[in-house]
Amino acid sequence: MPATSLDAVVSLCKRRGFLFPGSDLYGGLQGTYDYGPLGVELKNNLKRAWWRANVYERDDMEGLDAAILMNKLVWRYSGHEETFVDLMVDCRACKSRWRADHVAGGKCERCGSADLTEPRPFNLMFRTQVGPVADEESFAYLRPETAQGIFINFKSVVDSTGRRLPFGIAQIGKAFRNEITPRNFIFRVREFEQMEIEYFVLPGEDERWHTRWVEDRLAWWVSVGLSPDNLRLYHVPADELAHYSKATVDLMYKYPIGWEEIEGIANRTDFDLGAHSRGQGELGLHARVAPNEHSTAKLTIPHPDTQKPVVPFVIEPSAGVDRGVLALLCEAYDEETLPSGETRTVLRLKPAMAPIKAAVVPLKRNAPEIVETCKAVKRDLQRTGEMRVVYEDTGNIGKAYRRHDEAGTPYCITVDFQTLSDDTVTIRDRDSMRQIRLPISEVYDYLRRGIAGQLAEDAFEEPWTE
Ligand code: ATP
Repeated sequence: MPATSLDAVVSLCKRRGFLFPGSDLYGGLQGTYDYGPLGVELKNNLKRAWWRANVYERDDMEGLDAAILMNKLVWRYSGHEETFVDLMVDCRACKSRWRADHVAGGKCERCGSADLTEPRPFNLMFRTQVGPVADEESFAYLRPETAQGIFINFKSVVDSTGRRLPFGIAQIGKAFRNEITPRNFIFRVREFEQMEIEYFVLPGEDERWHTRWVEDRLAWWVSVGLSPDNLRLYHVPADELAHYSKATVDLMYKYPIGWEEIEGIANRTDFDLGAHSRGQGELGLHARVAPNEHSTAKLTIPHPDTQKPVVPFVIEPSAGVDRGVLALLCEAYDEETLPSGETRTVLRLKPAMAPIKAAVVPLKRNAPEIVETCKAVKRDLQRTGEMRVVYEDTGNIGKAYRRHDEAGTPYCITVDFQTLSDDTVTIRDRDSMRQIRLPISEVYDYLRRGIAGQLAEDAFEEPWTE
């Protein structure tokens, strides 16, 4: 039975150390979560898979890691100062505040009163002071999207790499939004991470690239473990588009809370590069940018045929890391009833996403030779630097397996008395609970193939009685 309620996933996350409420020790800070020992591994695996697919495995992409703090003018010219707002209403009865489009039936969610104020705009950007002087001018915003860091570095990337259209810049990093009502665990938080691509194309070729990116991104989410049945597209209607967008397709995932956006793929046209070019012009800064052979000092790139400067259009696939982690957890969560009547909770994560790839378990905790062999097996696997492997001796062997079922660990390697005489171990498969006995020398290759998704369905021969 897959996850039908968010609560089941939340409690597993806390129990096993995927996620903890932020600042819990001091009563918490709403809209923040901390990734625990398993959570950080899962999140890193997701981010690495994204980077691999979008940077290493393509010929048309560069990476970037821009500063979170940027000159406040970036946000003025990008339009965020004026328009990055949600509509907010106050409940006059209990003084709570709500995002207007989250108020169901015109009633306050907390007290049920219908006595609400008219909606008014609330800017979602956090402001912070920069430097020791606290005057009105010395502030910066925490970036509400990573995208602007890419736009303002566009020229530097083009000049330093010699890139020509079409090409993209990929970036993973933190973003901050002062959400009016953070909710649904890590789905809507005030501090989160984004994986964003700005893909620059010739104007006129934008719609074709937009369609292509929607297909690519959908396929990628399936490749990391989301079922196609739980993903669908939402073509955002014109009156709901962000201020910079000509067309947006949201990828929606079927979370236990309903169909919600996991990634937005927007056609941002030349809005941002145009806006920053204008900003440079108005500020008299064009002269500071060294003109090259083909370009004016604006944020342009030579047209591939005419070599005349052109402001490219941009397709932006923008995915939320935290919403991705949540989707992987919801997708993988399963409760099954075993023949013994016991309920087993298991996280059926793809091995490549699993925080721990293998646990090495001694059949007997107080048999020194077995323990020593376990540690040697673990050390050798660890030395490859390719996978997180742990030695697991808490509780009896059944408990160890259950613990790792919940952690999503795909393989448990068990050292028993037979190991001491013939150097073989058993590997237990999380999903089928079947096992295979192998020489220790073959374990690494077996795991490697398992993590790469290359093991046959019947790779594990013997049933394990649990
Ligand atoms: P929503 O309509 O849900 O507020 P959005 O349309 O404002 O989201 P975008 O601006 O398109 O979101 O941001 C791109 C991605 O960043 C989203 O698809 C989502 O995965 C992630 N994201 C945005 N806001 C949050 C948040 N408050 N918490 C977690 N992830 C977020």
